[in-house]
Amino acid sequence: MICMEFKEWLIDRAFAEAGNALKARNHMQKCPDCRKLYELDDELEGLIRRGMIPVEAPPGLGKKIEMGINSSNPKNFFPWSWSFIPALAIAGLLVLFLNSFFDQHGGGFYSFEQLGNVALQDHVSTEALAFVAHEVADIPAWYEAKMGHAVSLPDMAARGFTLVGGRICKLGNCDAAYLTYRRGNKKVSLFILPAADAKMAMEPGRPYILTMNGNEFEFWKAQGQLHNLII
Ligand SMILES: [Zn+2]
Repeated sequence: MICMEFKEWLIDRAFAEAGNALKARNHMQKCPDCRKLYELDDELEGLIRRGMIPVEAPPGLGKKIEMGINSSNPKNFFPWSWSFIPALAIAGLLVLFLNSFFDQHGGGFYSFEQLGNVALQDHVSTEALAFVAHEVADIPAWYEAKMGHAVSLPDMAARGFTLVGGRICKLGNCDAAYLTYRRGNKKVSLFILPAADAKMAMEPGRPYILTMNGNEFEFWKAQGQLHNLII
């Protein structure tokens, strides 16, 4: 079995002949790349089973698939429907997920979409806050004590956001200060990471804005920090 055949086997291994599994196993023993692919595919399946990945494809993925397979209408792929996704697109998805796993394992974020998608999981999560606004007098000091480095808070009140509370969260391999605000009846999330966690080119102080899935994402670097606001 060669790498290409291994990848074909991996994509539809649920339907593959039993004999091929043995060939695939033999190939994996000799080929670390394919072994890694297999492990990540397993990890991905585990994540899906545990419901950590939304059923709807991450926004931006459509665009990437479109570029990858040159489809005239990528919207046909959504909502997520495996039976209509050509094998090539599945392979493309796998590669994209693998890339994001590599990125996460390496630490840091390489695109706004990648960071935004990971942060969105926390934005929609109902995980309890570690503190509510009035409980902590000095919030930067609270984060500094927990995270081991200074965290400075941008003036969110000036933009009409009322602090609800905060906690620490994991974005990939990165620890982030997470703060949640309200504006009207809208939940707003702010993530603060060390600036070095952003591998994408960003001009200091300049906001980068992205709309995905009806949420507005704003990213900016200031005071050695990377900020991601989700409204
Ligand atoms: Zn191989």
